[in-house]
Amino acid sequence: MHPLAQLDHDYAWHPFTQMRDWLRTEPILIERGRGALLHDVYGRRYIDANSSIWTNLHGHNHPRINQAIRRQLARIAHSSALGFANEPASLLAEQLVLAAQPPQAESTVRRPASLEPGSRLIAARPKIAKAFFSDNGSTALEVALKLAFEFSRRTLCIREPRFVSMAGGYHGDTLGAVSLGHIDLFHKAYSPLLFKTDSIMAPYCYRCPFNRAKPERIDARENRKCNWECLAQVEKVFRAQKRRRGPYSGFIFEPLMQGAAGMIPQPVGWLSKACGIAREQGALLVADEVMTAFGRTGTARGLQTAARASEPQSILASHQEEVSPDFVCLAKGLTGGYVPMAATLTTEPVFNAFLGRYEDFKTFFHGHSFTGNQIGAAAALASLKLLKDRSQVRARLQLERVFEQKLNTLWKRSRVGDVRRVGLVAGVELVKDWRTREPFALTDRAGIRVCERMARRGVLTRSIGNVIVLMPPYCTTAEQLNRTIEVLSRSIRDELGD
Ligand SMILES: *Cc1c(COP(=O)(O)O)cnc(C)c1O
Repeated sequence: MHPLAQLDHDYAWHPFTQMRDWLRTEPILIERGRGALLHDVYGRRYIDANSSIWTNLHGHNHPRINQAIRRQLARIAHSSALGFANEPASLLAEQLVLAAQPPQAESTVRRPASLEPGSRLIAARPKIAKAFFSDNGSTALEVALKLAFEFSRRTLCIREPRFVSMAGGYHGDTLGAVSLGHIDLFHKAYSPLLFKTDSIMAPYCYRCPFNRAKPERIDARENRKCNWECLAQVEKVFRAQKRRRGPYSGFIFEPLMQGAAGMIPQPVGWLSKACGIAREQGALLVADEVMTAFGRTGTARGLQTAARASEPQSILASHQEEVSPDFVCLAKGLTGGYVPMAATLTTEPVFNAFLGRYEDFKTFFHGHSFTGNQIGAAAALASLKLLKDRSQVRARLQLERVFEQKLNTLWKRSRVGDVRRVGLVAGVELVKDWRTREPFALTDRAGIRVCERMARRGVLTRSIGNVIVLMPPYCTTAEQLNRTIEVLSRSIRDELGD
């Protein structure tokens, strides 16, 4: 065993990892990376097929991001945002607020049907105006949660704010974020520590009880036969709450695709309809864009024209469904995946709810030591600049097409039940037989075994239960992407049978 791997075994504890299994084999120890490739200490090369757990956008060791970090480092690494401003954080706050504006082309405006106390302060299309920095996705959600809680009480006069999120949702691992989540396997053990939230039915067309379509060799969303019964369920939950206790303070959602739930995409139109209901019933919209932002889910309608007109481009998946949230949580890809940093974006009315005389103590009493860190902000600014580059936008669209075509080759495997892609994210759900959709038991470890085999063939990703996640960095070449899916296809065949 490599001496560094031995040290890891002796002293380190890994996240979301059964350490007894971990300690049985020598771990892959990453030494460096470039573009979409990772190199281990033995000089073996791997394709980074899940963007280092959904964080990386432009590839590793990118000269522009490296240079931005180096330049910043030569000045200062960190000074506190408690009491002081700094250059990169000021610039980044501006850039994020600009980039979070909805695309101009939009026209649909939804107004709440009835006016609740203070509800004129919830605009149908709120304007993002402020950025609050923190360090990771979970803290970005905690901030949104606390702000929404206080705003509801102070401004909307809701005495006991209550939140609703999507079934199967994942919003991080701190206790507030866990309270919003609905993945029993992760969350149940801590339930005595959590506050109560509600959940709405989340669309999962492949396994939806309302979907009357037989399994076909096509994305279940395309093939579905239903009458949006799921949305009727959603409406019921919102209405019941409003009748009994007044409106929900916030609806928390992962737009377009639920990540940790198993890469479960929403059919086109679902999000705008669900958010329409939430608004009508008086709830603030909290978009958890930790995974979906920064172009990961493809391009907002109008982004291609925006690229031509060199207008600021939307960075939000929510905008693809013409949803304008009151809160936006950003993390993972914010710095291009280089250093930990997060931001919670919100509106002027929310900001105003915390203004007052010092002795009113309306201050937002929340902060982290590394809030507004300069290295993170410098990396994020460089990443945002790359995202705007027109040739990058074109390359991303091109890569999406390659991804789509190549993913289609997976339908020939009878162990592949569903292949679902949104932009540059895909989930491949493994089943015992595609004709029956019969799932593998978790104890079969089907996903884990396929990923282990892929790793031996030089492709790294991580499964969620029986779902193999593919999320290439934007710099991935067509050849690398082809290879990734070849290796996945052969690994499924060799591990689970044809
Ligand atoms: C990863 C993730 C989080 C949590 O982010 P961390 O930085 O891991 O705390 C929250 N929400 C979504 C949708 C995520 O994918």
